[in-house]
Amino acid sequence: MRQSPLKRHYMQDSEQNIPNSDNDLSHLMQERHLKDDIIESIHDGVIVFNPDFSVQVINPQARALLNFFNDPDHFFDDLTLFKNKKATLTFKLKDWLQQISRRVAKHPKEFFVWQRIDFDQPLKPLLFSAKPIVDENHQITSILLMIYDRRLQADADEKKRILNAALNSFDGQFITNDKGYITQPNMAFSAYTGLMREELSSMSILAWMQKQLTLKTTEEQVLRALLEDGRWSGEVEVHPNADTTFYAVLSLSMITDNHRNIECYVGTLQDITDIKQAQAEVEYLAFYDELTGLANRRLLLEHLEHTLLHHMRHRTYSALMFLDLDRFKNTNDTFGHTAGDELLKTTAYRLKEHLRAEDTIARLGGDEFVILTHMDAPSLELATQHALTLSNKIMDALCEDYIIMDQTLKNSVSIGVCCFPLHQHETPEELIGFADMAMYESKKLGRNRVHFYDQTLSESIQNRHALERSLNNAVIEEEFELFFQPQFNLNEELVSAEALIRWKHPTLGLISPSEFIPIAEDGRQILKIGQYVIRESFLKAKEWHEKYGLKNLSINISPIQFHETSFVAGLRSLQEETGVSPELITLEVTEGILISEMELALRKMAALEEMGYKFSIDDFGTGYSSLSYFQKLPIRELKIDKSFVFRIPASQEDIAIIDTILNLAKSKQLQIVAEGVETREQVDFFKNTQASVRDKLLIQGFHFSKPLDASAFEERFFHA
Ligand code: C2E
Ligand code: CA
Ligand code: CA
Repeated sequence: MRQSPLKRHYMQDSEQNIPNSDNDLSHLMQERHLKDDIIESIHDGVIVFNPDFSVQVINPQARALLNFFNDPDHFFDDLTLFKNKKATLTFKLKDWLQQISRRVAKHPKEFFVWQRIDFDQPLKPLLFSAKPIVDENHQITSILLMIYDRRLQADADEKKRILNAALNSFDGQFITNDKGYITQPNMAFSAYTGLMREELSSMSILAWMQKQLTLKTTEEQVLRALLEDGRWSGEVEVHPNADTTFYAVLSLSMITDNHRNIECYVGTLQDITDIKQAQAEVEYLAFYDELTGLANRRLLLEHLEHTLLHHMRHRTYSALMFLDLDRFKNTNDTFGHTAGDELLKTTAYRLKEHLRAEDTIARLGGDEFVILTHMDAPSLELATQHALTLSNKIMDALCEDYIIMDQTLKNSVSIGVCCFPLHQHETPEELIGFADMAMYESKKLGRNRVHFYDQTLSESIQNRHALERSLNNAVIEEEFELFFQPQFNLNEELVSAEALIRWKHPTLGLISPSEFIPIAEDGRQILKIGQYVIRESFLKAKEWHEKYGLKNLSINISPIQFHETSFVAGLRSLQEETGVSPELITLEVTEGILISEMELALRKMAALEEMGYKFSIDDFGTGYSSLSYFQKLPIRELKIDKSFVFRIPASQEDIAIIDTILNLAKSKQLQIVAEGVETREQVDFFKNTQASVRDKLLIQGFHFSKPLDASAFEERFFHA
């Protein structure tokens, strides 16, 4: 009898012989049924061919897999099989089977084929496994073909290939198993985390996150997002070890099967440190001042807006302080921009030192700083008090010597304060404007001081801005004129005169120099104006000397003008141009010119003195009175400021001050001018001073004459 091929097959091809006994028909029949049953019950496709390749048995699975439902006689004709997925190489099953049946092998031969069922369907991957069945005489009795469906596996293989390609990227990537253990990290992931596959495979995503990540959200939120949306992505900080931190975006997705069973998680870790750095840089540039590292206007406005809202809501108060350095332009012009930058940096440093971390310190550009103080004062008064204390502290700090490029420089600061909220719906910009106005007021009042904003200020400031604008025109249009005020000795004889400038504004009328000179100094128009004053004065000094024998004319020199590098040369060329004799000229300067760059100032003064000019210290006693410089200075004259003259003879204190000045002048053999003499009593006071200084004393003031224009002066004092 024929051996049951299947039986043999199921006996694992054991070469065990089934005895060829005289089985009866029923036995045969039985075997036959059993064989069919077995064949039909097999999960995979089974076809048994006769040695002539006609189909002996085909099970339904084989039919289904091959889509073959016809008469088995045409079996080979109806099959379209390929050796490759692209369907370019056909596979001839019959040839292959013939080939196999030529040589009897112990193991079945396998071939992976692709079958086309329909043109619009993908090819179906099948694994053929075939083996000839032989009897004890090694005669082939049949050929067994097993057909395995490889669709699932092909899908899986493809997924794996794609994943492997994906895992081979620069981003760190991993796949977990269904329990969430990181079983497949790529190289990049191991490189980023410093964890190798072995370590990771015993680590769940969560364990890894707890070990190495700082999240911006909670782990619960991550888990909830994964369960609800199937994915989560967010910025994380990765700490692979104690001294390394980098920034990354971690994306996690959950892969489930059709029944929502978790298959695995896929994770991507993208290093964004570069992006973060660039972002931080941009942010820095957008919100911070590059030179000093302080906040810029934008950041200040942002903080101010918050603070303002906070105080409105809580009915508390704070202060905004506007600072402007008094002598920054000087430093910049005399020592160059590098020195100027150093000065600004030092200023920033000192401010930081004296303020708290919660305060916002900003530089708005140039030498303008703004401080938003962090306070929660219960009333405007307390905020004001606190701001005053703070201002004094800051002024002290900024007054200390600056050592810059081996030079010792001095500076001071003018501060304007606006306490807020004012409860008039003010905006942050407006508040800065108010503090700025108060600062201008400080400057006007003599610098190195603090002034508080009050509503009436804004009007005067508006005037100032109008003046600032028209000053430029004035310089061009020459709307200026020199007035002259006489100076007398105690015998009331005319000895000298002081030139004082007047601005005849086309619409505003006559504007006082105490109003526009500070503005012209800030805007540097003072240089042109000063040039004009010197030329006119030189011409008048020469003319009045030649015509009327006047021996001296005093000219006011602004510190800005004096510190100009070209000051000495400019004076010399005007001297040549006008032909004036320098002996006829006194230059009035204030002590302030000595504050910064004393050595340079001294050298300039010495050079001018050498040329024949005289120096007078104007407003003596009001400023930086360090008497030590007296030894070195080539000065001829002191002018007692009118504020001391004003209250005599009533004020004993002022009398004492004047006495001291007179004694000083005597010991240094200086001439003295008392200015602002308005009354007969004041004239008498000076006439009664010690005899030894009397012949060195001049008096100037409204008691004798207001400043007059040139022709009025001539009329009154020379033609009388
Ligand atoms: P200053 O140099 O102290 O000039 C004296 C000021 O006192 C003048 O004010 C003068 O008119 C005023 N004055 C004179 N006698 C009396 C008096 O008896 N009582 C009172 N209350 N005041 C008196 P002016 O002309 O308004 O000038 C103000 C300031 O403007 C000057 O103060 C000076 O610092 C500046 N200035 C004036 N002209 C020039 C100039 O040509 N160049 C520069 N750089 N500054 C000038
Ligand atoms: Ca003067
Ligand atoms: Ca004066």
